[in-house]
Amino acid sequence: MEEKKVRRIGVFTSGGDAPGMNAAIRAVTRTALHMGIECIGIRRGYHGLINCDVVPLDLGSVSGLSRQGGTMLYSARSKEFMTPEGREKALNTCKLLGIDGLVGIGGDGTFRGLLELSKLGISVVGIPGTIDNDISCSSYTIGFDTACNTALDSIDKLRDTMQSHERCSVVEVMGRHAGHLALYVGVACGATAVIVPERPFDAEQDILEPIRRARLNGRTHFMVIVAEGVEGGAYAVADQIRAATALDTRVTVLGHVQRGGSPSSRDRVTATYMGYEAVKLLAEGESGRVICLQNDQYVDMDINEALSMKKELDMQTYTVMRIMTGVDHAPDTVRPSRSDA
Ligand code: ATP
Repeated sequence: MEEKKVRRIGVFTSGGDAPGMNAAIRAVTRTALHMGIECIGIRRGYHGLINCDVVPLDLGSVSGLSRQGGTMLYSARSKEFMTPEGREKALNTCKLLGIDGLVGIGGDGTFRGLLELSKLGISVVGIPGTIDNDISCSSYTIGFDTACNTALDSIDKLRDTMQSHERCSVVEVMGRHAGHLALYVGVACGATAVIVPERPFDAEQDILEPIRRARLNGRTHFMVIVAEGVEGGAYAVADQIRAATALDTRVTVLGHVQRGGSPSSRDRVTATYMGYEAVKLLAEGESGRVICLQNDQYVDMDINEALSMKKELDMQTYTVMRIMTGVDHAPDTVRPSRSDA
């Protein structure tokens, strides 16, 4: 039997936005056009698919898009799509528009939605796009590098003023369930301490003692990085520091600024490769796949399998962070702590 030719595909962004999503939309569109496939942009994720909120994409409409933050297709979360009735409406939009395949750019939730659509007979491919880098099947997700750089830029600026006033800064970075961003940013900025939701922490050992050691080494300002998902967040950590040290301790919650900005070269290039691979798969008649980066190679994986995996904290970076902050120094390799003095 002759393989059915893919003639028209849809692309959408869903869940939290991430820098580089636009570059992925551009790559999907350009690859599709190169292959003689029409490309339709679906606005506002699954909400737009339900409501037929679409825009045709051509070379002109995605021109210059790589360097733009956010997503030109908007992003949304849709409760209606979680219901069979909602998904039926989404299916009807695909039928009405003659969409043979869909590329969804987002996180785990977006992939779960794609899986449901594939059960209804639509060919689907997912691209990991989230600043949290918390998608198990891929070592990297679009947006992570830019978010790290944005956070780092703010922290470097904060450090200047903290240094002038000899304060302790507690910075909360995004990551409700995952500490990847906190960990990378913490290593990059030379933090005094880094606290992530995946690991229990002991305030005395993991925060206060590193501050004391830094003080004994001559430092008069301190930078503590806390992931959003740590219980109580940055405010609870700051209270503990204040109570134990009387340091002038200030909290900064970086918030949504971390989602914005022009994507880094890494995010633009990753998004471009992933967009290309996604369309190639659809054109080859594949469905139910997620594009992943594994060992520096772009590969694809079954969505079910991808969703069943759990991403662990990067233990190499965690170990390096603990050595850099001094938490795991052998007792006789550090200067005496205040209690020893
Ligand atoms: P982020 O990591 O930024 O939160 P995400 O893709 O995980 O991104 P979600 O809000 O979890 O974001 O999911 C996006 C949308 O995917 C949801 O609003 C919903 O419409 C759809 N979705 C999520 N889970 C399911 C599911 N189990 N079945 C069908 N659709 C789902």
